[in-house]
Amino acid sequence: MKTRGALTLVFDDGYTAVYEQVIPLLRQYGVRAVFAVPLNTKEIEGQAITSPQEWLSIAARDGHEIVAHGITHRSFTALSDRELAQELSEPAETLRTSTLVYPGGAHDDRVVNAAKKHFKAARTVVYGLNNIRPEDQMRLKTINFSKRNFSVPRANIHALRVLFQNKWLIETYHMVSCQPSTLKHSVLLDDLEGHLDFITSLPTKITTIEEHL
Ligand SMILES: [Zn+2]
Repeated sequence: MKTRGALTLVFDDGYTAVYEQVIPLLRQYGVRAVFAVPLNTKEIEGQAITSPQEWLSIAARDGHEIVAHGITHRSFTALSDRELAQELSEPAETLRTSTLVYPGGAHDDRVVNAAKKHFKAARTVVYGLNNIRPEDQMRLKTINFSKRNFSVPRANIHALRVLFQNKWLIETYHMVSCQPSTLKHSVLLDDLEGHLDFITSLPTKITTIEEHL
């Protein structure tokens, strides 16, 4: 079947809860996704993070893309040139990736120019759909889903816009939980499943960033 539009699911921060719950769900649907994992951060907002090595081994098995997300999850815009160079180069080498997710979305011209030396593509937290061939691969837009704006119907409507307008949507998730969570950046596992059920029925390609570009 001919496909139209493209969808990419990105999970930021490499949470252990995501590793344990989302990986089996994606496997069930045969969907490959992107995981942005900080190189040396044990927890964010009190939530445990699974090591990059474990993420890499699951990626090798299931075909996911593990992408750079800094070392210590600090805002790149607040770093010295030297610190910035290190926070870009080490993850690129260790994770063998040419894709970056700016921690906290923080980027400016200096950060983008430094990032270009190591990466072919980078995702921001700027809201929007991308063209199928994005005009600026170092400033990819996304829809950042959280408790506030995520429901199965709303997410599905975005997917329909992608299909009808022939666009590329990068969906961003952080924490995924079985029970309602107090964390702002969380969605329910059941809702994610409902959304996967819908998008895997569409003639829209679900792909990784590397593969799409
Ligand atoms: Zn992050």
